[in-house]
Amino acid sequence: MLTYGKRAYLQPKQLFCQVCDGAFIYVPGHTNQGDPTEILAYEPLSYHKGEGGNVLRLDGSVKWRSGKDYDEAMARVKAHLRSIPNLPAQ
Ligand SMILES: [Zn+2]
Repeated sequence: MLTYGKRAYLQPKQLFCQVCDGAFIYVPGHTNQGDPTEILAYEPLSYHKGEGGNVLRLDGSVKWRSGKDYDEAMARVKAHLRSIPNLPAQ
C-alpha cells in the first residue's frame, strides 16, 4: 500500500492474486475507521482447488488462509456484510 500523508492507496497488483492471477472479490461497506484486520477482498476457494485463498485486509496486507482459518475469515466477511444497512440482496 502506498501512503501519502493521511491517505493510503491500493496498488492494482493488490487486487489480484500474485500466484493464480485471479481477481479478488471485493467486500463493500468498510470505512477508514474500521479494524485494520477486517477483510476488504478475498479469493474464493475455487481459485486454488479448495486449498485456501488470499485475503486482503483493510491495512493493505495480503494473507494466505486455509482450512479453519479460511472458514473463519469467510465467517467474518459474512458477519460484516450482515452488519451493513441498505446493502442490495446477495
Ligand atoms: Zn490465487
